[in-house]
Amino acid sequence: MMTKEEIDYTLESYKGNVTIATVCSHSALQIFHGARQEGFKTIGIVTQKRRELYESFKHAKPDIFIEVDDPSIIPEQELLEHNAILVPHGSIVAYNKDSLLDMHVPIMGNRKSLLWESSRESMFKWIEHAGLERPKILKPDEIDRPCIVKFSGARGGMGYQVVHSPAEFYEKFAVDGKVPEGLLIQEFLIGIRVYPHFFYSPITADGYRAHKGSVELIGFDRRVESNIDESYRCRSIGIDIKPSFTVIGNEPITVRESLLGEVFEMAKKIVVSADELFGGIPGPFSFETVCDENMQFYVFEISSRIVAGTNVYAKGSMYTMFNHGVPMSMGQRIAKEIKHAIKENRLKEIIF
Ligand code: AMP
Ligand code: AMP
Repeated sequence: MMTKEEIDYTLESYKGNVTIATVCSHSALQIFHGARQEGFKTIGIVTQKRRELYESFKHAKPDIFIEVDDPSIIPEQELLEHNAILVPHGSIVAYNKDSLLDMHVPIMGNRKSLLWESSRESMFKWIEHAGLERPKILKPDEIDRPCIVKFSGARGGMGYQVVHSPAEFYEKFAVDGKVPEGLLIQEFLIGIRVYPHFFYSPITADGYRAHKGSVELIGFDRRVESNIDESYRCRSIGIDIKPSFTVIGNEPITVRESLLGEVFEMAKKIVVSADELFGGIPGPFSFETVCDENMQFYVFEISSRIVAGTNVYAKGSMYTMFNHGVPMSMGQRIAKEIKHAIKENRLKEIIF
């Protein structure tokens, strides 16, 4: 595992301008576009198959492409030669999780947080430590209500199923009478899905004070999932579908202004608990909630990096306009933070 001292040493050894790199997937277009807006050169790690797609966006394509055969390979040497800072996103967590801790390339944010979010066990420990309301977790024989059964790792909801009883659970999931490891049985929450996106800056005191700095609300989304989100169409014509939750895209949502205080308090608790558990989460983060009819939020997921839901306002969000006077994407907000940290000589506080 790379120590913080080694990462700091790499940063110190960078001579000349820093570049911003990411893997061409997930939210890469807004990361490149935002970095360009702040004057950075960008690097896209790309497979040959994807290159044409990313080449086609004249104003959002990276300045330099580095082709790899497999997206789980990060070309560290080349990135280091370009003074690169890697901006992690959901695909990097999904495909590169095992190599993140050992990577020599400096990563925006705290790389340890990416491991905390990628294990359901540790993520739930984090949600609990933060003191947030969350759905109940049940053992197979305790299933006494509708539950969603999830596989381990970020798979974009792929393969999740709903069960109503222990018998139904065993029928759907047991293999030769045994339950496969890594399944999570969670109470199915009823209400409106609301996924807030935040930016935590330990080096900025403006805005909503949190821990060493402040948290900024950047926006909200909710996911559009196949087939659950259009299942009413099937029901209306008499087709009884089996619900599934595979993420296909995202849509914007806003919440009542009077609920914002509560949303900020949840964000603050996530920031403080991250610091206590593993040294903090500088940079973008998000959490997934369901808000019920009593306006109670339940948190069932935390992501400690940019989420693809921020793609809904890649032109700039309403709340960044309120905070910064101009609408900004999360990609630009990340680049702005790196620029500010370089200017103040505080990069080490946001790059672990
Ligand atoms: P992909 O590179 O599209 O296969 O995505 C890798 C991972 O990122 C998926 O397993 C999802 O967890 C997540 N992801 C990708 N796109 C989205 C999206 N639009 N909304 C939410 N999560 C996403
Ligand atoms: P996740 O992989 O935890 O982000 O979940 C993927 C999707 O499954 C979410 O966007 C929700 O639509 C649904 N989902 C996950 N957990 C729950 C829950 N406890 N109650 C209701 N829906 C859920």
